[in-house]
Amino acid sequence: MEIYNTLTRRKDPFVPLHPPHVGIYVCGPTVYGDPHLGHARSAISFDILFRYLLHQGYKVRYVRNITDVGHLENDADDGEDKLLKKARLEQLEPMEVAKYYTDRYHDMMDALNVRRPSIEPTASGHIIEQIDMARQLLDAGYAYVANGSVYFDVMKYNERYRYGILSGRVLDDLLSATRDNLEGQDEKRHSVDFALWKKAQSEHIMRWKSPWSEGFPGWHLECSAMGRKYLGEQFDLHGGGMDLQFPHHESEIAQSQIANGQPPCRYWMHNNMITVNGQKMGKSLGNSIMLEEFFTGRHPLLAQAYTPMTVRFFMLQAHYRSPLDFSNDALQAAEKGLKRLFDAAGLLPKLVPSTDAADSDAVDNLIQKIYAALDDDLNTPVAIAHLFDAVRLINAANDAKEPLPAAAVNALQALFNDVVTGILGLRDDRQANSRQALLDGVINLLLDVRATAKAQRDFATSDKIRNDLMKLGVEVKDTKEGSAYSLA
Ligand code: ZN
Repeated sequence: MEIYNTLTRRKDPFVPLHPPHVGIYVCGPTVYGDPHLGHARSAISFDILFRYLLHQGYKVRYVRNITDVGHLENDADDGEDKLLKKARLEQLEPMEVAKYYTDRYHDMMDALNVRRPSIEPTASGHIIEQIDMARQLLDAGYAYVANGSVYFDVMKYNERYRYGILSGRVLDDLLSATRDNLEGQDEKRHSVDFALWKKAQSEHIMRWKSPWSEGFPGWHLECSAMGRKYLGEQFDLHGGGMDLQFPHHESEIAQSQIANGQPPCRYWMHNNMITVNGQKMGKSLGNSIMLEEFFTGRHPLLAQAYTPMTVRFFMLQAHYRSPLDFSNDALQAAEKGLKRLFDAAGLLPKLVPSTDAADSDAVDNLIQKIYAALDDDLNTPVAIAHLFDAVRLINAANDAKEPLPAAAVNALQALFNDVVTGILGLRDDRQANSRQALLDGVINLLLDVRATAKAQRDFATSDKIRNDLMKLGVEVKDTKEGSAYSLA
């Protein structure tokens, strides 16, 4: 497989450091708000990488963190930490806010069929590791203490290494751009220096003891410290959204270079952003659509509700490195496409293979092209385009126009299992819905039989139905209007 390495700015063959083991670190969510389309894009992009490596037989340790503390993005108006602000407004312990949104994130990603990572460390659970790394950077002479806070000395780092190597930024430009008033600016030696540890103000609730002050770690530090703890001083691949390249990943490189004597990873991978009807997504623009709003259809910009699988399929139809524009038209097209794909999947087991000498070259070629697309920097849109060629072959075989030999039918079945279900992680929502409908139908049928038995004063039967349903976790409640049930 070749992947586009943000660091080298070219497609490089992916060769793990210690095959068959692969170590991946991806920056996870900051848990102070409900997950939106941007969260889904990053999670789905790296889910494809995770699934594809597993499919190729690698043993993958996939670490994705939860940022539940520290230097969260500040509100422009009052400079207050967003998580803390939320906790104050809702009169909650900050950890309640973090836990609530972590659960929400898990629920939404589960709905999108994103596999959970192997390890999901929280920043608040790794304060000791972060203090250790900050101390190491101080000992090495690349950090300094100012007024109880610790800052990384970017200017000194840049004398020997290049700060900006990943994003292509130039330090002189950064210096002139960041000269304006920023928080803690007077404490810092240079405007480009970043915090490793921040002394907590009196109103700051989340705080820990450190050698320098009671405070909290800087945002960039958590990923360097947790990546090292779980994946070693240098691991295979680091990923995240394109917006994290600078300053977050740039700073991670600097920290690891000094603390470990080497960059944290050998490959960097970044997914592109989502726009809404051609505009950048943002709360102030009113076009930031939450995932739950997609699933319920409750947002002024949405023409209808979209299933999680439609959202997933919509995202996979663009390459992860390309920008992706949301529109109802695009999502409705994805909905139709997904239906065609699963209609064909439903036909596959029913196809009658031809015993004529028709060869399976067309199918073999197609499968080769699909894997070649995935090998080419996970090019899912091209792979999906070829999947629709497979759909055409299946439909033609079903119409008995162009029958397929048994080998080709089997190969197509394996393709759907491995690629559609396994690697792309698509599943037929309609099947889940129809199973639910079946369950409802069967229980209601039993309740009808029970009502008839009761009317005929056959209480042995009516009690048996109620008690046996109870044993299965179905609670029957009798009301004036009739019987209703709920799942315990
Ligand atoms: Zn990170």
